[in-house]
Amino acid sequence: MLTEKFHKILESLDSLTPLQVETLRRALPESAITDDTPPYSHLMQAVVDHFDESPTCPHCKGNDVGHWGEQSGYPRYRCRSCDKTFNAFSGTSLSHLRIRHKVDDYIECMRGDTTLRTAASQCDISLPASFLMRHRLMAIISPDKAELLSGISELDETFFRESFKGQRNLDRPARKRGGRKPRKNGQAKNVIKKIPVMVACDRQNHVTDAVLEHISADELEAHLRCRIQPGSVLCADAFTSHETIAKRLGLELKELVTTAGIHVLEEIYHIQHVNAYHSDLKSWIYDFFKGIATKNLAKYLGWKRFLKTERFSKDSFIERISGHWVP
Ligand SMILES: [Zn+2]
Repeated sequence: MLTEKFHKILESLDSLTPLQVETLRRALPESAITDDTPPYSHLMQAVVDHFDESPTCPHCKGNDVGHWGEQSGYPRYRCRSCDKTFNAFSGTSLSHLRIRHKVDDYIECMRGDTTLRTAASQCDISLPASFLMRHRLMAIISPDKAELLSGISELDETFFRESFKGQRNLDRPARKRGGRKPRKNGQAKNVIKKIPVMVACDRQNHVTDAVLEHISADELEAHLRCRIQPGSVLCADAFTSHETIAKRLGLELKELVTTAGIHVLEEIYHIQHVNAYHSDLKSWIYDFFKGIATKNLAKYLGWKRFLKTERFSKDSFIERISGHWVP
């Protein structure tokens, strides 16, 4: 059966171009093709290629790692330190993703103007799958903070109403949309917890952000240390915590007293960019998404940051994710 001529054909398969492989597949009778090859994803392959340059064990963080065959079309590795096996996605938000062949299509729905339902329809997946995909992709991009802020930076905090959107078991009666409950005589005030969010940006479109517990110098320092170039200028409202953080990080503080109408100093120092960012962020979350659960706030902040700082395209998304891939 395996004649010399056939052996030569087999040996030449490795050198075929993708176009030649496709031509060969088309030339075969349909009955001869059993397509059990996992569907291809540019994003997944880019992540694998990046990981393969220097594979690290997700269990013990060791680097003494060897190849250990393949699984579902992607290389598998074995750690010589802890004996565990893994692939490029183990322990990440892309692990055990059953609809991986839809990932590339779904990236097109991550431009920030597509609802879950529309994305589900465009990618021909269910609504729960659309939710899962959006959250997995957000989970990848949200920890990817900006480059170092430099030059003139602006810092300000804003607040989001605490929300349990999507949670089935509330320990209080559900509120009506809008989040405020009208008070009647004698009725206790229904206080809605406000979640503080910090945003800092510079004039080169670099943005860093964080969901805070309280607005304190310690918390701000935890999120801003190594994020702003020491010696640069920080514009912020006049608060003790801002004065403290500027001292600790070695920044020249330009204090605005917006409550007294002082919005600009020396014609260039203001916090209008960061306030515009807040406004855009709130409109996106409250008007377009009709609110989001507080537990997902950090992920949406990261997604917005990505949209703000990158010129969005499928290629830039894939390049950014794979280039910053740190499992
Ligand atoms: Zn290990």
